[in-house]
Amino acid sequence: MIVTVTSHKGGVGKTVTAVHLAAYFTERFGEGSTVLIDTDPNASAIEWSERGRLPFQVVEPSAEPGGEEHVILDSQGRLGGEDLEAAVDDSDLLVIPTSPEALSLNALMLLVDDLKALGGRAEYRVLLTMVPWWNRSGTGARKALEAEGIPLLDGEIRRREAFQTAALQGVPVYDVNDRRAKQGWEDYKKIGRQVIKLR
Ligand code: ADP
Repeated sequence: MIVTVTSHKGGVGKTVTAVHLAAYFTERFGEGSTVLIDTDPNASAIEWSERGRLPFQVVEPSAEPGGEEHVILDSQGRLGGEDLEAAVDDSDLLVIPTSPEALSLNALMLLVDDLKALGGRAEYRVLLTMVPWWNRSGTGARKALEAEGIPLLDGEIRRREAFQTAALQGVPVYDVNDRRAKQGWEDYKKIGRQVIKLR
């Protein structure tokens, strides 16, 4: 399966999502089954893997294909025109993370408009990320997006410091020694299960 994680706005959990989808695929399909291609010029996923150890390979787009069955792409920000079209045509699914904040939601709507302009052939799902646990902004955002007919993955990724610790330590969140880290992994497992079913 080829999954592209993309968003028009930075800082919405795109890299964290790509890393944890790749971790989930690796858990499900075994070591060597999945590769994460980091096409983001910030190379955040490559740096993540270099700081510690991830259970899958993270490679640059220029790397020789390794024959993995599953490919997760951490896309560059703001794909447009032919690049967006190629991402749609080359992927089984686009996962679009957004936080429930107004600026992120605005950027999301622009991307959805771009996808609609491709004439309905884009297979995509929106993922609510970095959702605060101390207010109901996540619920409000979901309702607003559903009212617009935008397809969302069930569940959300809550805001947890453990994700930042995981990035710093160069590991998936399940390797962070913190009770809440386990909850962060549960959030991504729920998303991973749905993504696999969309094959
Ligand atoms: P993007 O790839 O969209 O720019 P990142 O995945 O790099 O975003 O995330 C941006 C920042 O937010 C990073 O510091 C990351 O650790 C943090 N972050 C991402 N997801 C969460 C989350 N669910 N909870 C808390 N912090 C998060």
